[in-house]
Amino acid sequence: MAKPLDLESPERVKVKIGLETHVQLNTKSKMFCCCRNPVNLPEEPEPNTLTCETCLGMPGSKPRTNESAVSMSLKVAAALNFSIAKETYFSRKTYFYPDMSKNFQISQYEIPLATKGWVDINTDGRTKRISLRRLHMEEDPAKLVHIGGIGGKYVLVDYNRSGIPLIEIVTEPDFTSPEEARLFLGKLATILEYLGVYDPDSKAVFKSDANVSIDGGKRVEIKNITGTKEIEQALKYEIIRQSNVVKRGEKVEQSTRMWNPELQATQALREKETEEDYGYIFEPDLTSIEIQHFSLESIRKSLPELPDQKYQRFIHSYFISDKLSESLTSELDIANLFENVTKKIPPKLAASWIAGYLKKTLNYNGIRFKDSKLREEWIVSLLQMFEKGFLTDRNAELVIRYMVSDRAGPEDVMRKHRIAKKESGSLREVEHIIKSVIGKNAKAVQDYKSGEEKALHFLVGLCMKETKGAVDANEVGKIIRKLLGK
Ligand code: ADP
Ligand code: MG
Ligand code: ZN
Repeated sequence: MAKPLDLESPERVKVKIGLETHVQLNTKSKMFCCCRNPVNLPEEPEPNTLTCETCLGMPGSKPRTNESAVSMSLKVAAALNFSIAKETYFSRKTYFYPDMSKNFQISQYEIPLATKGWVDINTDGRTKRISLRRLHMEEDPAKLVHIGGIGGKYVLVDYNRSGIPLIEIVTEPDFTSPEEARLFLGKLATILEYLGVYDPDSKAVFKSDANVSIDGGKRVEIKNITGTKEIEQALKYEIIRQSNVVKRGEKVEQSTRMWNPELQATQALREKETEEDYGYIFEPDLTSIEIQHFSLESIRKSLPELPDQKYQRFIHSYFISDKLSESLTSELDIANLFENVTKKIPPKLAASWIAGYLKKTLNYNGIRFKDSKLREEWIVSLLQMFEKGFLTDRNAELVIRYMVSDRAGPEDVMRKHRIAKKESGSLREVEHIIKSVIGKNAKAVQDYKSGEEKALHFLVGLCMKETKGAVDANEVGKIIRKLLGK
């Protein structure tokens, strides 16, 4: 029997990976017509309701380029350090498929919007620069809905998707592991979110084709992988599959495969088309775009602070660790929350709570801060209570969990779930107990004063017992130290 693929121990082979990533831009209207772009609608529209002659590909209809799609693409190109063309053209990429009623897709080929960019990723505590080959604009084809799954009886076509503006970003084959590919996509999504051209929570599609080869062999292209975790899984699988082909003494053929997320495996799709098959020609219905009309300088100036810059600034202005800064800046709403909260809460406390318990709880619930309905002032008042010693570490964590699940403020969830707030009166009571413990244990006190740290742990232990754990051990330690003048 064939040995199952062991995804956890990738073979020691030399891996080369390049990605082609498509992102749907969140413009108001489509790329070449005035139909509404469904990407940022709150509800899924009825199929084929956002269509016109142009995006249905009727004979005689004429496309017109959406200016804001070009501006957004230029912003992305500038943020990713690309060289931008002075003049750029659209081309027709010809292929027959029911999701493309014109039998060609308007894309860019010979002269894309931008070439030669780069982006840095952090891997194993060092920075690696990934070279980007090109960035181009194109239109999305319609969506095929396979009734009864692929190979089912019939297929429906929804042209709402036809004409959604896409950017495609092609990397050089610079990744040497599936993990690097995942980190890159995470970084790219963050940058696009900062630029406001893509909302990770919307239905906007963010998908990649991954090219992978091992030990200098032929490359295999895996189509249509959605999501950053999936890319890592798909690549891990494919690397092991190719290694097994080589082990059997066969050759890896250049081919196209598909990632099947249900099976968690790649499957053979078809032999790869070649450039000639697409028969690219310049699109005669559209004029070229002269970039000077877009005032590149003002686009560059209008770029917001990008993730790398924010990451550096957080480290330098708030004296937080690089790990915390990376975690906070990887999501824009979390970064903004942190900065607002630091107006009232010491940055280190705010950083470790927000990057720690809050993000953990949100992740667990599969939501982002901006969709959680949590209010900034709730986080502030929770952290203030914690800071003043009204809440133990454990209780504060509990409160944050209930805040996320109940979508309510700290006072409300504490009342509802009977989580006691330590009144200053009870703190005084605790201090009273601690004083009596100190009074009764002169030897331990003496030992601690002469430098024995163990004696402090002993005293803390006694106090915890006396107070029945109503206070945090750290808090007790602090009070003892204060009382003993250390
Ligand atoms: P195509 O147009 O056929 O998709 P390209 O030459 O444009 O091919 O390359 C597509 C992607 O394949 C790029 O992201 C590139 O980095 C990647 N790639 C090229 N050569 C290799 C290789 N030997 N191994 C893995 N990926 C590769
Ligand atoms: Mg390709
Ligand atoms: Zn239309």
